[in-house]
Amino acid sequence: MSVTHLDSLDKIVSLSKSRGFIFQSSEIYGGLAAVYDYGPLGVELKRNIQSEWWKAMTQVQDNIVGLDAAIFMHPKVWEASGHVEGFNDPMIDDKQSKKRYRADMLIEQHILRIRDKGDTGKADQLQQLLNTTGTRKGLCEDLYDIIMAEEIKSPDSGAFDWTEVRQFNLMFKTHYGAVSKDDDDIIYLRPETAQGIFVNYKNVLDTARVQIPFGIAQIGKAFRNEVVARQFVFRMREFEQMEMQYFVEPGTDDEEYDKWLATRIEWHKALGIRGENLRVSPHPEDKLAHYARAAADIQYKYPIGWQEVEGIHNRTDFDLSRHSEFSGKKMEYFDQKDQKRYTPYVIETSVGLDRTTLMVLCDAYREEEVEGENRTVLKMHPKLAPTKAGIFPLIKKPELRELAKKIELDLRDDYTVMYDEAGSIGKRYRRQDEAGTPFCITVDFDGLEDNSVTIRYRDNMKQDRVSADQLASVIRDGIKSWKS
Ligand code: ATP
Repeated sequence: MSVTHLDSLDKIVSLSKSRGFIFQSSEIYGGLAAVYDYGPLGVELKRNIQSEWWKAMTQVQDNIVGLDAAIFMHPKVWEASGHVEGFNDPMIDDKQSKKRYRADMLIEQHILRIRDKGDTGKADQLQQLLNTTGTRKGLCEDLYDIIMAEEIKSPDSGAFDWTEVRQFNLMFKTHYGAVSKDDDDIIYLRPETAQGIFVNYKNVLDTARVQIPFGIAQIGKAFRNEVVARQFVFRMREFEQMEMQYFVEPGTDDEEYDKWLATRIEWHKALGIRGENLRVSPHPEDKLAHYARAAADIQYKYPIGWQEVEGIHNRTDFDLSRHSEFSGKKMEYFDQKDQKRYTPYVIETSVGLDRTTLMVLCDAYREEEVEGENRTVLKMHPKLAPTKAGIFPLIKKPELRELAKKIELDLRDDYTVMYDEAGSIGKRYRRQDEAGTPFCITVDFDGLEDNSVTIRYRDNMKQDRVSADQLASVIRDGIKSWKS
């Protein structure tokens, strides 16, 4: 059997559309750039990932509690957090096509092209220049100088006719209330979920009987007016984050940071992601965000290259101190045992749900040639699979349908299953392979005699004969014992 892994994002984009994982938003109107809708299979996959995260970050932890904060927040939150002033990307406009690009990304793509051509020395030299932007004249000016010196052309129009590089704030703004048009009434769509946790830190501390170290976990939408948003669900303008802020005593932060980084990599592996496709990329000290003392990306090898799926940050006491300063409310913690007072440090784990979904799809994708026939199969962990079992009568006959429908009904209580009687059995298997369904159950005439059915396994296509009464436990064991 020959196996091909994923080599381009286009294949996932087209499978996502044809099988109902992910659709372009408002497609019938030509689509809305960088916004996507999850279809029937996609929503199941996304929810399964979500519940794995929630379980790992709250249910099995005795000192992490959940939260669901609103998207709208008081505008002062974003002043305190530094987002109004500093949440910018450097952008540059192509004067001919009027398209806007992120200046640093244009340079990164240019470096990639040079590297692909084999000129590693030149690529390394440019990467070094890019890594040190902001240290010569200023960030925008340094980026502009590289684009000019390298004569980097516009990817779409091919023109070399650029504006200056300018900073562009990524927060979406709107007006709050029915009659407001004043600047005073400006409200932002949150660009990260973390601030909802910080402003509720005191509420949780006062009500949840937690003691430091403890964490608050949250899943929710975030919005960023990204300049470059052309990589499917990798970079969207509306996306979902799963974040956990872990409050620790200053001085223990380095150790907790290392612990969470290791814990989070294991979580990705437990999703069935192959270890060789995951790596950690620490941020160099001079590139740390304004709030961070240490930071690392957990990166996945997407078909577009190694890219961040999750960020682990040591945010120090920056956020709590700033909220204390801007709100006038105390954010300190009183340690009863040692009779001391301090503002906790925060270790943050922040993973994108959409990027995780994309990672799962990419990692699972295989094209296989089996005895002269091709199949596309998503070999994802069965616990994530949108449909756990496909149920088929061998042919369209009322007796077979009756038994198959009974099995469907029995399994529906515990599993998402799908009944299908259209087309040949081979076609039905292929459809479920493409959807990542780990088990297919076929009901034939022998089953009418002895209540047995055929169960076929997605990964190796082996078939077993089992009793219909055993199906729920066979599926449960198959999910538990799965290995990538
Ligand atoms: P990048 O450098 O790729 O823009 P970031 O460093 O700005 O990402 P964080 O602010 O650390 O990202 O956000 C935490 C996580 O949220 C990221 O690891 C990513 O998974 C997700 N995320 C951030 N921006 C987007 C986006 N525009 N679309 C989808 N997911 C995103």
